[in-house]
Amino acid sequence: MIGFRQSPWILHYDASSCNGCDIEVLACLTPLYDVERFGVINTGNPKHADIFLVTGAVNEQSKAVIRNIYHQLPEPKVVVAVGICAGSGGIFRECYNICGGVDSVIPVDVYVPGCAARPEAIIDGVVKALAVLEEKQKAMVAMANSIDKTLILRADKSDAPEILALQKVAYQSEAEIYGDDSLPALQQTLEELEEDFTHMPYRTNTLAVSRENSDPPEVNLNRIVFLKAVVNGKIIGSIRGYTVDGTAYISRLIVHPYFRGRGIGRRLLQEIEKAFPHAKRFEAYTGHKSKRNLEQLSRLGYQTFKTEVFNPIITWVYLQKSRNGEHPGTNGKPQPVVAALGSPANQ
Ligand code: SF4
Repeated sequence: MIGFRQSPWILHYDASSCNGCDIEVLACLTPLYDVERFGVINTGNPKHADIFLVTGAVNEQSKAVIRNIYHQLPEPKVVVAVGICAGSGGIFRECYNICGGVDSVIPVDVYVPGCAARPEAIIDGVVKALAVLEEKQKAMVAMANSIDKTLILRADKSDAPEILALQKVAYQSEAEIYGDDSLPALQQTLEELEEDFTHMPYRTNTLAVSRENSDPPEVNLNRIVFLKAVVNGKIIGSIRGYTVDGTAYISRLIVHPYFRGRGIGRRLLQEIEKAFPHAKRFEAYTGHKSKRNLEQLSRLGYQTFKTEVFNPIITWVYLQKSRNGEHPGTNGKPQPVVAALGSPANQ
C-alpha cells in the first residue's frame, strides 16, 4: 500500500475534450507543478496504472475505449473525472454524439471541478483518489482474509447493478482471450440484467429434439435461480439459471479476478445445482478457448455434447451432465459425447 501513496501511476485519457483540461493535466508535469517529484508517474499502460484520469465528455467512439481501458487496470483502481465535461458532459452534453460524463460508462470515484480544471484542483483530485485507493485496498485485503466466510445467497433485483459491474470485470479476461469485447456478457445492460431476474432469454438452440417444431415454453419465475457469493457485504461472484422440462440451464458463472482459484466458482455451481432439486439434467456453455471454465465444468462432471459458432472468433461449447452423473444425451437417451473441440486438457 505504501507504493500507492508514494508513487501513484496515472493513466490519462482524453474522452473528447476541447484540450483545455488536457493542457492543464500536462501542466501538472511541467517544472512549475512537477508532480513527478511526488512520485506520480504518467503511464501509457493501463496494466501499470492505479488511477484512471479522464478528461472530456464521453461520445459514442470513446465509450468503448473507456470501458476497455478501465477493465484493464488492475484492482484496486480509482477513476478521476477531470473538468465539468468529464463530470457531466458539460457544455457538450446536449450534442447529438455525447453520451454524458464518464460515469455514464464506468464508476467515477473523484470529480475535479472546473472549466478548465486548474492544475491545483487536479493535484487535489489525485490526492483524494489516493485516499479512495487506500480504502479500496484495505477492503480487498479484508475480503481476501475472510474468503472462508463467503456466503452463497439468493440475489434479487437490487443486486443487479453490483452484479453487472462484477460481470464486466469478470468477463474482461474472456475478452482478452478472444481479442473481442462483443461477448454478450460484456454488452449486457442493466435493464437486460434486471430482466434476467424475471424472464431469462430461453435458449432455443439447446432444446431437446422433441421441441424442435414447437414454440419456446415460458420460463416460469419460480424456475429462475440467481445466486451471489458475498464476502463482507460485497458480491464477489454470481451465477444464474432456470429449468424447463427437467433441464437446468446454467449460465454467467462469474468470480472477481482477485478471488479466483479459491473454490468460489465451484461452490456457486454446486449450490445452483442444489437449487434445482427436480432437474434431471444440467446444461452449461462457454467459449471454446475458455480453458478455466471448461476445466471447472469438467471437474464437476460436465461433458461436451455440442458446439455452435457464435462469430468467426468464438465457438460456444455446450456441456451437460445428469444428476446421477451419467451422460444424458439431448433427447433423454444416452448418446456419444461430441468432442469437436477436444477436451479442456488439450487446449
Ligand atoms: S471542462 Fe472546459 S476545458 Fe475541460 S474539456 Fe470541457 S470545455 Fe474543455
